[in-house]
Amino acid sequence: MSYWSGPSSLDRVADARSDAQLDEAWRRALVLRVDGDGRVAADAGRPAAVPATGSRTGDDIYLGVFDGRAWFARSVPELVGESIAWRDAPPDEHDPIAAAVFLSRWNRMAPVCERCGSPTVPDLGGVRRVCPSCGWIAFARIDPCVIVAITDPDDRLLLARNFQWPVGRVSIIAGFVEAGESVEQACHREVAEEVGVTLESLSYVSSQPWPMPRSLMLGFEARAVDSRINIDGDEILAGTYYTRAELAAAVSIGEVVLPGGDSIARHLIERWLSSR
Ligand SMILES: [Zn+2]
Repeated sequence: MSYWSGPSSLDRVADARSDAQLDEAWRRALVLRVDGDGRVAADAGRPAAVPATGSRTGDDIYLGVFDGRAWFARSVPELVGESIAWRDAPPDEHDPIAAAVFLSRWNRMAPVCERCGSPTVPDLGGVRRVCPSCGWIAFARIDPCVIVAITDPDDRLLLARNFQWPVGRVSIIAGFVEAGESVEQACHREVAEEVGVTLESLSYVSSQPWPMPRSLMLGFEARAVDSRINIDGDEILAGTYYTRAELAAAVSIGEVVLPGGDSIARHLIERWLSSR
């Protein structure tokens, strides 16, 4: 089971977000500072959640209660000193960090009403924004992405290299869900487009937030009808089916670098490695 399969450790306190409640929460809160790239101020390799000082501003984002304390996020133009990417934070702090990075970037990127074009203002501690001109309420937009672990009829796993990645770095196939499409249809389409594979079975495994800037990764595993692949050469530069022994050997000599340990991509690969 992945880290993300259980309940969140962050209580989002949906019923305690009036201005008076937010002010009260602020007095004993911890604050994370997040820059425009989604990096978080850090201290000794951990996100630096520091006691709130001064007054709460309307742009401070209330994340909720984590480990018995109120946590806020404050967007800053840039961070001076140590900072950390959300995915490098310790797993026990992933929930507040993912929310902080996601909401900070969304509030920063979505200041205008999509209905009338007027500037919007944060509401309920930044989990939504309202338009003072027309009353439109906007909730944080989440972009669904699919990621698929594909095996061939010999139970070998397909790993591919994206054109943006350094040599050796590989992963499973991923892509955005398009408008009017189900997530299953997105899996079939992305896999056909990128590696020319036809899937005969497809099942959902688990999901993971990916606030880069606002994605939700939906993880699947699938079986290909045969072992043929046809790399698109555009987004994907190379792809190969590996047996478990071949993959272990390639990793051990550094020929292949797998995705990071807390990513859903790695989780799906490990799931295949440990299944037989
Ligand atoms: Zn409006």
